[in-house]
Amino acid sequence: MGPVIGHEGVLRLLKQSLQKGRLAHSYLLVGPPHVGKMTVALYLAQAVNCTGSSQPCRACSQCVRIASGRHADVQVLGLREGGATKEISIDQVREIQRAASLKPFEGSCRVFIVEGAERLSAHATNALLKTLEEPPPQVLLLLLATDEEALLPTLRSRCQRLELYSLGVQEVARALEERGVAPKMAQHLALHSQGCPGIALRALEEPEWLEAQEVEAEQVAQLLTASLHQRFALAAELAQRFQANREDVQAVLGLWLEWWRDLLLVKEGATAYLVHPELRPTLEGLAPEVDALAVARSLRLIQETLDVLDQNANARMALEHLLLGFPFLERQETAAT
Ligand SMILES: [Zn+2]
Repeated sequence: MGPVIGHEGVLRLLKQSLQKGRLAHSYLLVGPPHVGKMTVALYLAQAVNCTGSSQPCRACSQCVRIASGRHADVQVLGLREGGATKEISIDQVREIQRAASLKPFEGSCRVFIVEGAERLSAHATNALLKTLEEPPPQVLLLLLATDEEALLPTLRSRCQRLELYSLGVQEVARALEERGVAPKMAQHLALHSQGCPGIALRALEEPEWLEAQEVEAEQVAQLLTASLHQRFALAAELAQRFQANREDVQAVLGLWLEWWRDLLLVKEGATAYLVHPELRPTLEGLAPEVDALAVARSLRLIQETLDVLDQNANARMALEHLLLGFPFLERQETAAT
């Protein structure tokens, strides 16, 4: 785990609260995926346990053990199981309650981080609320969520809310360069990250993940010449993926947004800002075929579909509506590759 990228305001606030001894018992960290919720949570876990001079010092044994995920008093609950939509059960919360009643083992504060707090079942939430009503001393509970509306209001009201916003592209690029990434690559990854540094860092660690994303983005180009039948088939396939893993499909639609935005940039000749510069030849081939209005309509459609999917609507119908709304282009003999 590296230093937190961005979020200076939130870090300052937390530091001040810590110095004044006014840290809350529980925080709700809200923000888009990969914006840095977990990094900020671990920063706070370090700050409350650090034995160095400027907390967190990132160098004392407490800080180091927390950063490497080997600290007995810092527990992470939730996700990380293939990213699947898995409920957080009451048994898991009871495990937290049991551990929270014990004195810290090796540090000075027990920290429980619930990743993807949206996945807390109703029973689990109620159990957690009991802990929040009478928080044991030396316990810090950090809930991380992308979609806070999915949390019970009673749970939200018991936590101090911290919102993490997407960073500027240049801020992400600068952070990557500080980590030794070449400027051109840093710029490419920063654009791709859409201000969420975790995306850039993951792409850096797993180039094959980035490639898979690019393949997914390129799918839109093929879709435009796809028949009605093919579009219905893809909608059904995506709807099925959505049942198994919501975020997976939301990510695909996010990539499609990037693709359409890139197409618009190519049409306007602003190619320096492309999120997927590797798709430029395809985009340039398509640009004269699709008018700006159709691009704008497609962007709006994707955004609407994302909103509708958020509201638990019929996923298949929403996706069909989207795919049928994309322009239909004549299939052309493409130039030899
Ligand atoms: Zn330290």
